[in-house]
Amino acid sequence: MTEQPSRRLLLVHAHPDDESINNGATMARYAAEGAQVTLVTCTLGERGEVIPPELAHLNGPALGRHRMGELTTAMGELGVRDVRLLGGPGRFADSGMMGLPDNEDPGCFWQADVDEAAALLAEVIRETRPQVLVTYDPDGGYGHPDHIQAHRVATRAAELAAAAGHGPARVYWNRVPRTTAEAAFARLGEELRGLPFDRAATVDDVPGVVEDERIDVEIAAGDTPYAAAKAAAMRAHATQIEVAGSCFALSNALAQPLFTTEYYELAAGQPLPEARATDLFAGLAADAGAAS
Ligand SMILES: [Zn+2]
Repeated sequence: MTEQPSRRLLLVHAHPDDESINNGATMARYAAEGAQVTLVTCTLGERGEVIPPELAHLNGPALGRHRMGELTTAMGELGVRDVRLLGGPGRFADSGMMGLPDNEDPGCFWQADVDEAAALLAEVIRETRPQVLVTYDPDGGYGHPDHIQAHRVATRAAELAAAAGHGPARVYWNRVPRTTAEAAFARLGEELRGLPFDRAATVDDVPGVVEDERIDVEIAAGDTPYAAAKAAAMRAHATQIEVAGSCFALSNALAQPLFTTEYYELAAGQPLPEARATDLFAGLAADAGAAS
């Protein structure tokens, strides 16, 4: 077996684009630092709404294939080489927004058996031995069925891995501190001048906003190349995201701030050695979670 890097990070996401929006700067930083960064995306997002008119003809499997290409380009921008679709591309279909008839498609991720999907992810954990697993909170950040399911599957897979003796040392949820979100939205009106967005989103449109004291780790990219890499990765998801200036919009065309600092709440595992740590691996032994 080839020797693994001493720091190993696994991120579990619902659709191509979620990883770049939530964790792009974090992924770029750890990849550049030589950590092992593995992304598992659960669906191809083939029910997503397409923004550019010239690509509006894409839907279903053709959109899924296109988004797989966007994901590959985005991961090139972040320097991440290990990208996997849970169970292989197309194994789980995009479920669409909550309440749509698509949610009842037996092949969609929302209808997947959690234990079955978790077993597939547990196999990735067995192979890659992450010390750190990043996913969404139980509400999926904002209630999308695939995001909720990604949380359930990631949580169950971490339990299965722990029972087998190689569970991640820490599980984190993606977060945004409330005062940071509010301050960013307060500046947004000013920043929108000259940008192609007509209207702004609100703090309520941002997934995972919580009270500041729940933030355990912040990864600040600031003016580093990691912030630029995140913006480039988001731009690569052109069917889903429009980036302009320090803002971006999804298919609802509502501008929101592009956060170059990413925030995490420790959901399970070893406590952090300090408040607001600046490293997801802070205080972890190099071999935590390694092959036994
Ligand atoms: Zn998503």
